[in-house]
Amino acid sequence: MTDAPTLSVPKSIPKVGIVSLGCPKALVDSERIITRLRAEGYQIAPDYAGADLVLVNTCGFLDSARDESLDAIGEALNENGKVIVTGCLGAEPDVIRARHPNVLAITGPQQYESVMEAVHTALPPRRDPFLDLVPDTGVKLTPRHYAYLKISEGCNNRCSFCIIPKLRGDLVSRPAAHVMAEAEKLVAAGVKELLVISQDTSAYGVDIKYATSSWKGTEYSARFHDLARDLGSLGAWVRLHYVYPYPHVDRTIELMAQGLALPYLDIPFQHASPDVLKRMRRPANQEKQAARIAAWRAICPDLAIRSTFIVGFPGETEADFQMLLDFVREGGIDRVGCFKYENVVHAPARDLDGHVPEEVKEERWHRFMEAAQEVSVQRLAGRIGAEVDVLVDEVDDGEVTARSPWDAPEIDGVVHLTGAPTARQGDLIRARITGSGAYDLEAEAI
Ligand code: SF4
Repeated sequence: MTDAPTLSVPKSIPKVGIVSLGCPKALVDSERIITRLRAEGYQIAPDYAGADLVLVNTCGFLDSARDESLDAIGEALNENGKVIVTGCLGAEPDVIRARHPNVLAITGPQQYESVMEAVHTALPPRRDPFLDLVPDTGVKLTPRHYAYLKISEGCNNRCSFCIIPKLRGDLVSRPAAHVMAEAEKLVAAGVKELLVISQDTSAYGVDIKYATSSWKGTEYSARFHDLARDLGSLGAWVRLHYVYPYPHVDRTIELMAQGLALPYLDIPFQHASPDVLKRMRRPANQEKQAARIAAWRAICPDLAIRSTFIVGFPGETEADFQMLLDFVREGGIDRVGCFKYENVVHAPARDLDGHVPEEVKEERWHRFMEAAQEVSVQRLAGRIGAEVDVLVDEVDDGEVTARSPWDAPEIDGVVHLTGAPTARQGDLIRARITGSGAYDLEAEAI
């Protein structure tokens, strides 16, 4: 269940429990739904027992995520009995009904109107002008000092292992003015870090031909580079996620060197072997990726690169895999997520030949993680002596856990900060890096 705030209110207020599964993009959907619910006078229940119905926001990507989603629906049915399903797996109602025929309603991803309709039918809203107030910025599931900012939905690519375009449709970009207005509200509400997300961030604006839109008397263009720059002018940290290595990304590295965006690029390479990338049908597939990263670091020396990779993709040979290991080492990939290839229902990669045996996938995964850890140790050791701002995430019994510009929340390492006895969550503190481990850093406040 979420840790959304609750109010002390009379018993007759309709209460909805939320179970949010999946990626940060799904989290943003949950936040939007909660905002709508709160605006209509619903209360968000912190547990099954206190809820009149439960909304399960599902993930439908990997087989394992589908199983987790189906289990979560089952648990909500057992514990509460009244369940509405939404999110990616909601695009396949037959799969859900086959296992859980008793769910009240099923809607797909981003179908906010349909979700609200289903809630209205099962649990009519009760209007109360004193309780309907919702903060201007909406309700966030993430702590107050950072927030995800979704700039587009859907994707124009057709990677062979992925069904997101099937589930979420083609790219639909938000006008730049809307993104800027939301970002400004978040910053005004105390958010110190904006995490820009979408399925394919660097393709932002392609569908609307980079249209300009007006906000506070200024024209803003729906171009990835321009948006990153304009967001940077709001004074919060701007972290760019899911950026594909299209040629125009090079210019964005300059923004990082100028301090307008964090020196951090989350760029899902998935592999390094041209053959495998071709079978994956990856966008912006370029040879000599390591040389490109070196050129980026020449512009922005402290750039941290996070990437995700798939090992054991159908047809991956030992030579392909070696190429991947070499790339991670040569490219100095600071942070990695690595997945063993898994069949995804309806994804074309299922039908490729040369499926890799499970034990080979397992073995390659371990070798990959070992290599990635060596790189991480080296890269982090190279940070010792640097002076940077760190953002405090948590203070617990005098122990301060923060993040550097090189760490995204929840997926990367942290900075253990000393010498800051009055630190509070959300503080930005100047610190010197004094030590490093496999994934985390140590720092001392200056
Ligand atoms: S870029 Fe590829 S992996 Fe990413 S959402 Fe689009 S189709 Fe899926």
